[in-house]
Amino acid sequence: MALKDVIAGSRNEEGIAAVLGMLKQQFGDRFQKGQSFREQHTHTTTYLTPQLPDGVVFVESSADVGAVVKVCAAHRVPVIPFGTGSSLEAHLNAPSGGVSIDFSRMNRVLSVNAEDLDCTVEPGITREELNTYLRDTGLFFPIDPGANASIGGMAATRASGTNAVRYGTMKDNVLALTVIGADGEEIRTAHRARKSAAGYDLTRLYVGSEGTLGVITSVTLKLQGIPEKIGGGLCGFPSLKAACDAVIMTIQMGIPVARIELLDEMQIRACNLYSKLSLSEQPTLFVEFHGTDETVALQSAQFAEIVTEFGGDEFRWTVDAAERAQLWKARHNAYWASRALAPELSGLSTDVCVPISRLAECVAETQADIAETGFLAPIVGHAGDGNFHVLVLFDNKSPEDVVKAEAFTSRLTTRALSMDGTCTGEHGIGQGKISYLAQELPTALPVMRAIKRGLDPDDIFNPGKIFRL
Ligand SMILES: Cc1cc2nc3c(=O)[nH]c(=O)nc-3n(C[C@H](O)[C@H](O)[C@H](O)COP(=O)(O)OP(=O)(O)OC[C@H]3O[C@@H](n4cnc5c(N)ncnc54)[C@H](O)[C@@H]3O)c2cc1C
Repeated sequence: MALKDVIAGSRNEEGIAAVLGMLKQQFGDRFQKGQSFREQHTHTTTYLTPQLPDGVVFVESSADVGAVVKVCAAHRVPVIPFGTGSSLEAHLNAPSGGVSIDFSRMNRVLSVNAEDLDCTVEPGITREELNTYLRDTGLFFPIDPGANASIGGMAATRASGTNAVRYGTMKDNVLALTVIGADGEEIRTAHRARKSAAGYDLTRLYVGSEGTLGVITSVTLKLQGIPEKIGGGLCGFPSLKAACDAVIMTIQMGIPVARIELLDEMQIRACNLYSKLSLSEQPTLFVEFHGTDETVALQSAQFAEIVTEFGGDEFRWTVDAAERAQLWKARHNAYWASRALAPELSGLSTDVCVPISRLAECVAETQADIAETGFLAPIVGHAGDGNFHVLVLFDNKSPEDVVKAEAFTSRLTTRALSMDGTCTGEHGIGQGKISYLAQELPTALPVMRAIKRGLDPDDIFNPGKIFRL
């Protein structure tokens, strides 16, 4: 895979011109084709070259989305749904041009069923907006990618975050969707029942489909009760391997940890500088437990014993909300903290995930590999899931650096796959990982292509992503 390996598409100029005219007429000021709008809807944190859409529609309803899709389908022009643009693998590039559908104005909560612990929302609402809305209900939505992403984008990328070790990922927390298909009509994938054996599981097909099979117009989510007590803290370890071994033991012993995050010494240095902390610069675990006074105390004590066994520092924990919030804010800002180590360089965020028993081995080999490359490349991970990221800071304009970064990510992926892992635990494939998906699931790819062709025969939905047709 080449880092510059963005897919060049062929443009249907006539169709695009017709669509732009019709959308302007239909949506007035809610349709924009100025350069800055087009750039905003492609520019993300990715290292890959942006490929701009030709225009942007700010939709306000499912009917709007249906209308856009119908116009685009009639002229075989691509449609690229846009949540908040925080995806990391050039998911929003428009290799064949087309129309970006911006969901920021479709951000309403449609219903909350507190007695059933679920809610239905429009896709443009962000996870923080949703949790602010839910605050008075005693419920919360636990999935928390580091960015304040939209629920539609999170469903489309099958996102997760620090809480996934306890609450699962988007695949576990989406009960139902409404989706606009290639004919511009809306389908509903399921009702609100907690379980169902009714036909193919279309909900899980669309979750993680990255906008390539249809456009999500509402999402029904499971909610959780806000825990009575939350306790958490951190502790340093003499080596990354020791920290990983402590994570493995915690998971294998079935301690129901809510969050267990790994930061290597360079990531801690970055967090200290960026978030004005003074943590000891060593491999560190950030941990959180959810429950009652008794269960949080018990789990913390059990975890402290494991820490001691692997030579870690004393595990200090607190139930003080402000103290915990400061730590987790620093953790959520880890990406920006790492970028701030060398603002002049580009960042390439990797995302492998391995079975938990292989975590220590995979992380230790990767750290040795980083040392050989000479790159500044902090490691941070949702270690309880076996998922970790390396943010490689490299000079995107130096061919030598590009080749070196490419070789590193390729080795990392091959290492994870050789351990029965995956090239992406949560960020998705987009354009950046197309060749790695082919490496990971060669026999499944023809089935994925057949599904794509069946649901989107003219390849209008976010073309050039996940695989090459
Ligand atoms: C600092 C930082 C930290 C991050 N941490 C994490 C993390 O911990 N865990 C994690 O999983 N990810 C993480 N990410 C990646 C990113 O936040 C997730 O991929 C997120 O789910 C993207 O949501 P979004 O709203 O920004 O979607 P966008 O980037 O706007 O879109 C992502 C994809 O979803 C599609 N899409 C968007 N809306 C719809 C819709 N309504 N219907 C159909 N398709 C749609 C788009 O076409 C695109 O393919 C991080 C990113 C950053 C910048």
